[in-house]
Amino acid sequence: MRSLRTPASAPAMRSLRTPASAPAMRSLRTPASAPAMRGPRMGYARQRHSGGPVPEPDHHYWMNRAIELSRRSPRAPGAFSVGAVLVADGAEIAIGYSRETDPKVHAEESALDKLDPHDPRLRQATLYSTLEPCSERATKTRLPCTDRVLAAGIPVVVIAWREPSTFVENCVGVEKLREHGVRVLELPDLAEAAMAVNRHLDLS
Ligand SMILES: [Zn+2]
Repeated sequence: MRSLRTPASAPAMRSLRTPASAPAMRSLRTPASAPAMRGPRMGYARQRHSGGPVPEPDHHYWMNRAIELSRRSPRAPGAFSVGAVLVADGAEIAIGYSRETDPKVHAEESALDKLDPHDPRLRQATLYSTLEPCSERATKTRLPCTDRVLAAGIPVVVIAWREPSTFVENCVGVEKLREHGVRVLELPDLAEAAMAVNRHLDLS
């Protein structure tokens, strides 16, 4: 008799496979370059100066801030959306945008209304306005922004685009400011961005 050997059937040992690969460690990559932080205090163009003239503020930085503000303006079928920032000694001292405080208020006017008209900082301030300050306005009971700028003694005005003849035949804000000794700079490369919020108007 053949001994029936029951096959030694040891329970098949499941091979315990150690996981071939431990979960791959995510490589912690340090960001190659953190975006440069720019705060109001850094609103100066990078330039060398050694006791020389006061560095020129970073006009593009501040104009972009004004453009950002213009987007807060409540839309109006018969008026531009404009943003304005007053900067003195590298810091923002007042901001404004179209129709911010009432349906007729202009951006520059709104910014100026927040300061004492005799605030000494105005005498060394730069006004950034996305649009040329008006020289004439529909609301006759209020001074045009050009007159407000001159009255405040602001020495420098930076704009992104000139007022088209949409509402006023011929805006002479820039000419009038220059006639009175105000330094007016234009940033045509930001004109498109400044106009963007006004595309619903006839900008021809
Ligand atoms: Zn105005």
